[in-house]
Amino acid sequence: MEIMLIVIVIKEEWGNSMLEQLGITTVTLDLPFRLNHVNCFMAEGENGWTIIDAGLHNTYTKAVWEEQIRGKNITDLYITHYHPDHFGFAGRLQQMTDARVSMSKTDAHNSLSKWNMDFIQELPVHYEKAGLPLEMAHHIAKDNEKAIRSVTPFPTFDHYFTEGEKVLIGRYEYEVIFTPGHAEGLVCFYNAEKNVLFSTDHILPGISPNISHWFGKEENPLRSFFHSLEKVKQLDVEFVIPSHGRPFYGANERINELIKHHEERLEETLQVITVESTVFETCERLFRRELSVHESRFAIGETLAHLEYLRQDGQCLRELKDGKWYYSAN
Ligand SMILES: [Zn+2]
Repeated sequence: MEIMLIVIVIKEEWGNSMLEQLGITTVTLDLPFRLNHVNCFMAEGENGWTIIDAGLHNTYTKAVWEEQIRGKNITDLYITHYHPDHFGFAGRLQQMTDARVSMSKTDAHNSLSKWNMDFIQELPVHYEKAGLPLEMAHHIAKDNEKAIRSVTPFPTFDHYFTEGEKVLIGRYEYEVIFTPGHAEGLVCFYNAEKNVLFSTDHILPGISPNISHWFGKEENPLRSFFHSLEKVKQLDVEFVIPSHGRPFYGANERINELIKHHEERLEETLQVITVESTVFETCERLFRRELSVHESRFAIGETLAHLEYLRQDGQCLRELKDGKWYYSAN
């Protein structure tokens, strides 16, 4: 036990010294959710500072950034994906710093099209088809509507990341790696020399990144996620800096755990739909605990991602009856 503890302490110190070597400052922001924090990062280069991700737009986030950027020349703001806890404060932070904002074109587009009242007003229709009780469908749509406040104003997109592009974070060069799954336009940053990856929400320690189907044009986010995990596995990354939780060693061990988790989940989902079920019924059988409205959004999205993966893999069928989709195992 004591030896274990010593090993953990030493590894944590190595981790901190790696961040130091890379010149990375972690800015951890509190979040008002079950997932209670997000890590943003800062690093100083020759001409000024680069910031990775911005947090939610609220007064607390603003106060933290005011403190962090005081006296610094912020040249660049890299946004890893369009989710509110990463993208939300980007517009305001751009106004505060005059920084150039970079993001993938896919997620720049997603931010504009998903955090948008036209899209949100369509949501209850999708949720009713998923078999949700009417009231719950409206509550979830309202929760999305609330999210708009935490992601506006939108930034001006100055640059779109391209796959394999080299970008500077502090004094080190990183390769932009496209890793769709958790978000369609999610990017990671990889430094080959140190074998370090900013994994953002693609690979997280302790929790499995949410893989949701959002009724959008991305039809099979779980398949994309599996592909992106295999892609990163090829790099055999030694040190991983995630956007939630602490940096850790050994990406591939964690990747194998994540793959196993989803394979088990797919198996459970198949078991549930041996009896024909709506998305909502399947979700209730898979997540056997009370969920807040906010959590339900993700639970429904993830259940749908699993069902659609199975359907597109030919393992189940979907049929529209009385305005609801029913899934049944082959
Ligand atoms: Zn996140």
